[in-house]
Amino acid sequence: MTFDVITIFPDFFRSILEYGLLKRALAGGKANIRLHDLRDFADNHHRTVDDRPFGGGPGMVFKPEPIVKAVAKLQAESPGQRFPVVLLSPQGSLFTQALAEEWVRQERLALICGRYEGVDERIAEHVATHEISIGDFVLSGGELPAALIMESVIRLLPGVLGNEESAEQDSFTAPRAGPRDLRYGLLDFPHYTRPAEFQGWGVPEVLLSGNHEEIRRWRRQRALEKTWRRRPDLLAGFPLSDEDRRWLEALRGEKREPVVIPSSGE
Ligand code: SAH
Repeated sequence: MTFDVITIFPDFFRSILEYGLLKRALAGGKANIRLHDLRDFADNHHRTVDDRPFGGGPGMVFKPEPIVKAVAKLQAESPGQRFPVVLLSPQGSLFTQALAEEWVRQERLALICGRYEGVDERIAEHVATHEISIGDFVLSGGELPAALIMESVIRLLPGVLGNEESAEQDSFTAPRAGPRDLRYGLLDFPHYTRPAEFQGWGVPEVLLSGNHEEIRRWRRQRALEKTWRRRPDLLAGFPLSDEDRRWLEALRGEKREPVVIPSSGE
């Protein structure tokens, strides 16, 4: 899978490409990350890519022409092929594991990193196929969001994660057998490792029992419980088994309520 990143700071990405999973995926030829300096597509010798906003106000805005040229060059490389052209923006729809699972099936993906006040709106209107935010907060550039998206997609590419770090049970991962439109999975269950007792802190007895059926049931219950308490929104539309339902009923019977995180001002 090839990622094309359009940025004024290509060097920003060098260090993250030299470690761990991304380094392995690139070295093994599973993924290819191409960094394109937006300034190479500027049409004056000052390599200007930004200008003052119409209507006044502080800050600078990325001009449309260099971005249009950069995207056109990428599209010319694979004529007839449609691939996502993603504009990173806090105003976009939220990036999720479900979207990572959708994009991992693409051969190519382009990421446009904004800076300053953002990008001339005509890019969102006419060029980008997706406008994506990584969360309800504002960063100074799209480079960290692009890196984050590439990592979450690349780790899903076949053969990138080893068995010991399989993604199947990860938080938000939709069950494979579930209906196609299922958006989310549960949060992951808690993990423990040696020592079994540390500073007087024990680990759940059942995990030491060797009883695989009990361990499976405990893990499922903990994943359901965590999800119900912390992210009840994820349970809406989730395909619960009869066993799941009985367990959630039992939790409700304890009269403990899900933790609903209030938004500020409430
Ligand atoms: N004025 C804009 C913010 C610009 S931040 C606004 O208030 O919406 C500058 C750039 O950083 C953006 O163009 C975008 O590419 C990137 N960026 C900042 N926060 C982001 C987020 N939460 N998700 C994705 N990209 C983000």
